[in-house]
Amino acid sequence: MSIINGRDFIERLNKMENEIWFDGEKIKGKISEHPAFKGILKTKASLYDLQNSQDIKNEMTFLLPENQNTIGLSYLQPKTKEDLKRRRKMIEHWARHTHGMMGRSPDYMNTVIMSFASSTAYILKGKENCFPENIQSVFENARENDLTFTHTFITPQVNRSESYFENTKEPISAKVIERNEKGIVIKGARLLATQGGLTDEVFVYTAPHRFLDPEEAFAFSIPSNTKGLKFICRESFVGGESFFNHPLSSRYEEMDSIVVFDHVLVPWDRVFFYDNVEASTDFMLHSSFHHFATHQVLIRQIVKTEFILGVAELLVNTINVSGFQHIQEKLSEIIIGLETMKALLEKAENDSEMDEWGFMRPSIIPLQVASNIFPKIYPRFSEIIQIIGASGMISLPTESAFDSEIRSELDQYLQADGMNAENRVKLFRLAWDLTMSSFGTRQTQYERYFFGDPIRLSSNLYKSYIKDKHVEEIRGLLNQKN
Ligand SMILES: Cc1cc2nc3c(=O)[nH]c(=O)nc-3n(C[C@H](O)[C@H](O)[C@H](O)COP(=O)(O)OP(=O)(O)OC[C@H]3O[C@@H](n4cnc5c(N)ncnc54)[C@H](O)[C@@H]3O)c2cc1C
Repeated sequence: MSIINGRDFIERLNKMENEIWFDGEKIKGKISEHPAFKGILKTKASLYDLQNSQDIKNEMTFLLPENQNTIGLSYLQPKTKEDLKRRRKMIEHWARHTHGMMGRSPDYMNTVIMSFASSTAYILKGKENCFPENIQSVFENARENDLTFTHTFITPQVNRSESYFENTKEPISAKVIERNEKGIVIKGARLLATQGGLTDEVFVYTAPHRFLDPEEAFAFSIPSNTKGLKFICRESFVGGESFFNHPLSSRYEEMDSIVVFDHVLVPWDRVFFYDNVEASTDFMLHSSFHHFATHQVLIRQIVKTEFILGVAELLVNTINVSGFQHIQEKLSEIIIGLETMKALLEKAENDSEMDEWGFMRPSIIPLQVASNIFPKIYPRFSEIIQIIGASGMISLPTESAFDSEIRSELDQYLQADGMNAENRVKLFRLAWDLTMSSFGTRQTQYERYFFGDPIRLSSNLYKSYIKDKHVEEIRGLLNQKN
């Protein structure tokens, strides 16, 4: 097979009939027509169409040397710096199409699967209860069929104290409860999965942590319609279908779901490892997962920051507040964030190095720094837009109001110096949907947490950063005598 287009994606997903629960009911019928999902699925379909677009197809795809099939470039295993640049261009195209609002555009998970196939598949070789060949075959199948994935690696938030060890009669956190000739049987839950139920497959693995129960130390990938697999959705943040009223949530609300495993049989050929705590650490920490995944993330976040800067500047111009120094300072904060992230991306690519298996890894420290910066600056960007917009973020009549008999009053009282009332409200609705609607506040929470807890990300940076040279310099100074 080759790359799919939007129609292929929708038809394949509808056919799967994944078990998705929404507002207490199991969804029946075509998921692509459900009000909570049709906007995001249409957007996702348009991304698949984008990679078929003749103008940029050569930047979105590559020919697989083995069979000359046209493959999505997010599956490219980079072997040169040039390959990394090609990956960057492709990621930029996906991100620009959605203004960076879609955290889980398909290239994110495709990159994750590619990273595991390019590292963990080698690391787990010969280890107990490990099946690295399955990582490779899941990757090849995904690449050939242009599959879409979600992933989940977080246990339910029951008790996060470091000494907690689950000891309940029935599992809460997903565990292996049986091993038989067909595979492993999983019972329990995982949180969260963005786009859970809206993808072909779900990739499940365990974030390493202290006192990890061997029964929870596993990784696998299974089709989203596997028997016993349920996706329980939160409420929808789609404000409505009107683009005027809800410019972002009508298109980019991805949904997040709790993933429940009700005696799910994971066939042996889908198991990457099980009952192996050490493999769990290797899988996440010693693989190239962080290198490639954060490379994708940083590129998307740069595009998103550019979008935020554009919205902020347009707000400033519309109500003519650019002359105030504190407004200039706030816009500069966004510019500083943007240019810092861009510089980190350049450095990560320039300092990339060939790993022991022949893949070109972007340098991890600049990427780790970016992963530490963005969760802090994104909420501030959101706040800056709210501060600039002030009451304009609240005086937001709807599209219908402009179609009603009170239009002339709206035209009169909501106009801006250089913009008519309708366009002004449209802009302020965009700023509101970006930062204040349920969709907007979820975006803030997403950028804070989706790649892990920022507190622990900063601990990891501290622990992994090589400081010896600097410490030696100080020792040398202290050893000097008069
Ligand atoms: C919108 C959104 C989408 C997401 N999508 C996905 C997804 O698709 N797939 C997926 O797998 N995950 C997803 N996540 C989950 C994400 O990975 C987690 O939120 C993140 O790893 C933090 O874990 P937690 O939420 O369980 O927080 P917790 O670990 O419960 O932390 C709660 C608080 O306690 C503190 N804390 C807890 N333990 C420690 C500790 N040991 N040391 C210091 N402080 C600690 C934290 O700093 C935090 O303030 C998503 C999250 C969000 C918000």
